[in-house]
Amino acid sequence: MSQYMMALDSGTTSCRCILFDHEGNVCAMAQKELTQYYPKLGWVEHDAEEIWAVQLEAAREAMNSLHIGATDIHAIGITNQRETTVVWNRLTGKPICRAIVWQCRRTAEFCDELKRSGAAGDFSAKTGLPVDPYFSGTKLRWVLDNVPNARESAQRGELLFGTVETWLIWNLTHGAAHVTDYSNASRTMLFNINNLDWDKDILKALKIPRTMLPEVRPSSCIYGETSPDLFGAPIPIGGAAGDQQAALFGQTCFLPGDAKNTYGTGGFLLMNTGSKPIFSRNGLVTTIAWGVDGQVEYALEGSIFVSGAAIQWLRDELGIIKSAADTEAIALQADGTNGCYMVPAFTGLGTPYWDPYARGAIVGLTRGVNRNHIVRATLDSMCYQVCDVLRAMEADSGIRLTSLKVDGGASANSYLLQTQADLLNVSVCKPRCIETTALGAAYLAGLSSGYWRSCEELRKNWKADRIFVPDMPPQERAQRLAGWKEAVGRVLR
Ligand code: ADP
Repeated sequence: MSQYMMALDSGTTSCRCILFDHEGNVCAMAQKELTQYYPKLGWVEHDAEEIWAVQLEAAREAMNSLHIGATDIHAIGITNQRETTVVWNRLTGKPICRAIVWQCRRTAEFCDELKRSGAAGDFSAKTGLPVDPYFSGTKLRWVLDNVPNARESAQRGELLFGTVETWLIWNLTHGAAHVTDYSNASRTMLFNINNLDWDKDILKALKIPRTMLPEVRPSSCIYGETSPDLFGAPIPIGGAAGDQQAALFGQTCFLPGDAKNTYGTGGFLLMNTGSKPIFSRNGLVTTIAWGVDGQVEYALEGSIFVSGAAIQWLRDELGIIKSAADTEAIALQADGTNGCYMVPAFTGLGTPYWDPYARGAIVGLTRGVNRNHIVRATLDSMCYQVCDVLRAMEADSGIRLTSLKVDGGASANSYLLQTQADLLNVSVCKPRCIETTALGAAYLAGLSSGYWRSCEELRKNWKADRIFVPDMPPQERAQRLAGWKEAVGRVLR
């Protein structure tokens, strides 16, 4: 097959396009930065028109780099920053305000009110999510309450809501398709993950008219075709999933118990839990992994707010490293951490602690602790946090993990991955293609459009770059994990 699969990866800081071949190799990539707006403390916005413009530019640039046209693209798959909320006018196609980004905390007070009113338990049982400003629902309500005439206009059926994939598909099809997929719908806090429909009680509680909401479709299905003027000929749009779910799919975690961790700015660990949702007792989020082949599958998700960002802090604030890549050699020089632990709770702690008021600390400092120890302790903290999330997942799912697939920028660090294997006592597997998010989107679109025939075929594309096997005496592991627990105990409020 001479054709390519196109993945549009619409991220928080940039929009990328990757063209893959049938073996899942990256053949071309183009990337465009996205402007970040911080209008007030704790607020984060994007310009949705810019998202569309730069995403289209990235797609054209990737095609140009291979000198190919629309007929060389078999289909398009989309993956996106999740939860970010776009509201636009269906007649003019213009957003009525800036997109409210997942990181934006503007609805924190309203969420506190919801929790005080006792509604939170019901919301969680239906959506799998804790009531939190992170998710789209309260962001959409904020738009309707605060943008002049928005509510009236929505009630007249003039306004449409979507997360970023919905907005992109609507633009790619020139307004022919107003759709989302199960994985993205499950992040809105408006979608009932048990009966797979928008929840009328939640919509009522948040005063959101159902007519604004997109149709929810499988993650792998043909949503429509691109308008012919965009690329010279129509291209089918065959799949969509939120970024973390797409990475889980790209890592071919198709069976219950399969899990992946992404070490990026933050860390996201997802475990496939199969065809039934598992509601967490240990601070995990229950989410839809994808809908493929007429079946919806679920995942448990743990969020680590600060992962690779702790390395950026060493570089930018402390100035004790020149580049992130230096940390591997420095850690290996250190011979242990000399008893110190770093807890990077810069923005509170996520799973399983959920303490927004916790703050970072380096504990166990003695006169002999030097820069190398601190660098090593920081890398170790990225591993300890994954241990905490994974143990919570095992407790909730009753599944004992035997291996963990990894990706993300910091997975380039072999010290980190070996330490992860040692502390988890589980093999850590790094794939040759670390562009798993985009690959997952390509896979979803490739299955619906016949580029790939089955998940079995995709699994054959997953090739290990390196497998890290645990090699630490149990006593040392237990001692170090106990030291970490004690350090975390000191930062919790
Ligand atoms: P995101 O997609 O969240 O922006 P990436 O997946 O590109 O992030 O990963 C970037 C993060 O990984 C940065 O926070 C950086 O500090 C960290 N990082 C990159 N390379 C290394 C390395 N060799 N060792 C440790 N951390 C690294």
